[in-house]
Amino acid sequence: MKRRSFIKASLLGAAGGALAAPALVSAQTRNFTWKMTNAYGPGSPFYVQGPGSPTDFCNMVKAMSNGRLTIQHFAAGELIPALEGFDAVSKGIVEMNAANAYFWSGKTFAAQYFTAVPFGLNFQGFNAWLYHGGGQQLWEEVYAPFNLMPMIMGNTGVQMTGWFRKPIDKIDDLKGLKMRIPGLAGRVLAQHGVDVRLLPGGEIFPALERGVIDAAEFVGPFQDRRLGLHKAAKFYYTTGWHETSTATELIINKKAWDSLPPDLKEIVKAAAAACNAISQAWCEATNAEALDDLVKNHGVIAQPLSPEIVGTLRETNTRLLAEFTAKDPLVKKVHDSFMAFKANHDKWAGVSEAVYHAQIRGVTS
Ligand code: CA
Repeated sequence: MKRRSFIKASLLGAAGGALAAPALVSAQTRNFTWKMTNAYGPGSPFYVQGPGSPTDFCNMVKAMSNGRLTIQHFAAGELIPALEGFDAVSKGIVEMNAANAYFWSGKTFAAQYFTAVPFGLNFQGFNAWLYHGGGQQLWEEVYAPFNLMPMIMGNTGVQMTGWFRKPIDKIDDLKGLKMRIPGLAGRVLAQHGVDVRLLPGGEIFPALERGVIDAAEFVGPFQDRRLGLHKAAKFYYTTGWHETSTATELIINKKAWDSLPPDLKEIVKAAAAACNAISQAWCEATNAEALDDLVKNHGVIAQPLSPEIVGTLRETNTRLLAEFTAKDPLVKKVHDSFMAFKANHDKWAGVSEAVYHAQIRGVTS
């Protein structure tokens, strides 16, 4: 009797569980099919394909969710033009877009801080601010009026100043140069007489080769070599004052984000964080080989800008940031958070990374 009662109770329990389950099951088993657009064109390494790229992110999310969240990826031009992703996600035309936040600095100047500010934080420092220094919360606050949920899902690390057809020995050598360089850094150079041109990646090489522009920045050795920039200019200035680490942004339509069950939200966040680390590691690995090849096999002269030039650019950048932050309280709030965090992080970097790099130079020089 006792055994039979137990079995009966168990069956009832199981039945009770089954009765309670449907609501839970429907939330957990609903399938989501989303679209992600991208500011970069088909085939772009890092920006579209390869380890830690947006398509890698889509594959990860599909695998981690066992197909419950499937994201169809569209490179620039495949569904919408390159720089329409912000509006498309904001309006819910697509659920996600991959880009760099500074493309949207015309919507709000605060967006610049979530990609790269000249003389800003490096990869470690930027992640520290975003994940543990209030940066993520500020990003969400800045994007809330646009109906967007942002997160980081990639980083190139420090970028290179760029390619010049003539050497830049003093600040006046910049005067009159036509240069491709986006964002705040372009405005800084414009203050020193540079005629700033905005060209998408694919148009940089032909413009530089034909002399339509005299100089260009893109990303770093691997990406720049892929465009062939070394065939049009030989002076490669390495000091990445303008983009000390450049973040790839994932934006998600807020209503779509809110519709996801908690486990799928965690999967999206985890895949984005994984891509942030994996993509930067890929840049670190590929740039080392590419710079070596450019210098050894292609006659490229790679060197930093002089400390005097960099010092002048820093002063101009500080002045411009003061002008922009004075115009908008939310921009000032982001700026103050970023700079306060940076001041503290710089001290730590000074006794950790800086010493490490000095020791490397001691060993290899
Ligand atoms: Ca760049």
